[in-house]
Amino acid sequence: MKKKDVIIVGAGLSGLACAHFLKQERPELSCLLLEKSEQSGGVIRSHEEEGYLCEWGPHGFLDNKEESREILADLDLMAVMQRAPLKEFHRYLCRRGRLRALPQKPQELITSKLLSPWDKVRLLGDLWKKPLPGHPTIGQWAAYRFGKGVLPLVDAAVTGTFSGDLHRLSMDAVMPGVRRLEVEYGSLLRGMKARAKSGKGKGITSLPAMINFPQGLEILVQRLATGHDIRTGCRVHSLEKSEQGWRLGTDSGVLLAEHVICALPVNAALELLAPFQPPVARVPLSHICNVSLGFVDNNSIPKGFGFLTPECEGRFTLGCMFTSRMFPGRAPQGKVLLEALVGGRRHPERLDLDDTEMIRRVVADLRELLALPEGAPHFARVLRPRGGIPQMEGDHLNLLSWRTALEQNNQGLGLCGFGWDGIGINDMTRSARQAIRALDQPGTDSGAPEVKPVYF
Ligand SMILES: Cc1cc2nc3c(=O)[nH]c(=O)nc-3n(C[C@H](O)[C@H](O)[C@H](O)COP(=O)(O)OP(=O)(O)OC[C@H]3O[C@@H](n4cnc5c(N)ncnc54)[C@H](O)[C@@H]3O)c2cc1C
Repeated sequence: MKKKDVIIVGAGLSGLACAHFLKQERPELSCLLLEKSEQSGGVIRSHEEEGYLCEWGPHGFLDNKEESREILADLDLMAVMQRAPLKEFHRYLCRRGRLRALPQKPQELITSKLLSPWDKVRLLGDLWKKPLPGHPTIGQWAAYRFGKGVLPLVDAAVTGTFSGDLHRLSMDAVMPGVRRLEVEYGSLLRGMKARAKSGKGKGITSLPAMINFPQGLEILVQRLATGHDIRTGCRVHSLEKSEQGWRLGTDSGVLLAEHVICALPVNAALELLAPFQPPVARVPLSHICNVSLGFVDNNSIPKGFGFLTPECEGRFTLGCMFTSRMFPGRAPQGKVLLEALVGGRRHPERLDLDDTEMIRRVVADLRELLALPEGAPHFARVLRPRGGIPQMEGDHLNLLSWRTALEQNNQGLGLCGFGWDGIGINDMTRSARQAIRALDQPGTDSGAPEVKPVYF
């Protein structure tokens, strides 16, 4: 049996990005990707029907991460990509039953109607509050530093990224960089000011753009897959260290490799690594579905990204993207495409509704917020992605420490993928590159945690 230098398990975006960076940085190494399904690309999938172009999974990503930009340039996608700059495309929050534009800069919160005068004064409490000890949830942390008035905004941000619950997600796991600023400067506002002064906080004040492609996001994984040795329909069901290297039990027999990178969603990795005794068997997932709706364009949809609804508004949809406003060409001439999201960590039961009822509830909900044309939508399709979004809750920091120890104690093993260090496309490309750079130095510290700006 011929041994490979590197076997990558999983050919979703993470595995494909690992293969890409490996080819760039270590072209001398032989590499094989193993993918259990018949198609590579994982949860990134586009859907074209009746002239509408929708997405099963991600709807775009921000153009402000070095690793993703590098991939786009290497794949010749820079010239074709569509950009929706956040500066021009407003994001809306549903508050007290109405859509209100979100401030484009944090300081504009002071003049916005989203917070009461007292809530605005309370934001400054951050300057006097000591760092919150322990491992708070995002909700506990935000309420402590800035007051309860900000919770609907924080809720919307968490819904827009994790479709998660701010009272369960771990602040330390989701935003370690922000936590570090709090501890270092005794206040987040002071920390951000210091970073802006030193030039490090540039990304926080300048607004990026959301990107996608005229063919849909799937083109990204299709291009990434080109030119790599990928074996599809090949599930890896066991992994063990032997004297000859790593032995992988797969659907096509036993394979050997010097290095193995598990580029899998965290739960799939935990299943494979069960013999190494992870501290938890699974992490919680948030499932959502995408209700794509086409209407005659009566100019009622603003030029914007879309809106999000915090839980306290008691609405059926989590939010809705004004897709064809952001990315023209996704709806036939004279029509608009909206993509609403339903379910999430707090309402998985809503996903049990059949398609007809789901569409009826979403349309009724949207009609209360948008002046949509009368009558049934011109197009309606419910897309139900199989995979869920991993939630970085309670024990996540323990899980990350276990992973570091596992990599340090097992030369040639690397772990990256959906739900370890983050959940977004930019998190995946970043950790894929780290996994490649750590090939010969497993478990190396990837440096100070990044301060991720929060976009809705
Ligand atoms: C509904 C939804 C909406 C999202 N929206 C956004 C968004 O708008 N913006 C954004 O930036 N990100 C978004 N994301 C996140 C983004 O899609 C992920 O960060 C990214 O696609 C994860 O890629 P991955 O390769 O790590 O995981 P996956 O895409 O899950 O790929 C993992 C691959 O591993 C394979 N596999 C699993 N087990 C095995 C095994 N034992 N052996 C072999 N192969 C195996 C699977 O078949 C799969 O192909 C969204 C995700 C979802 C689910």
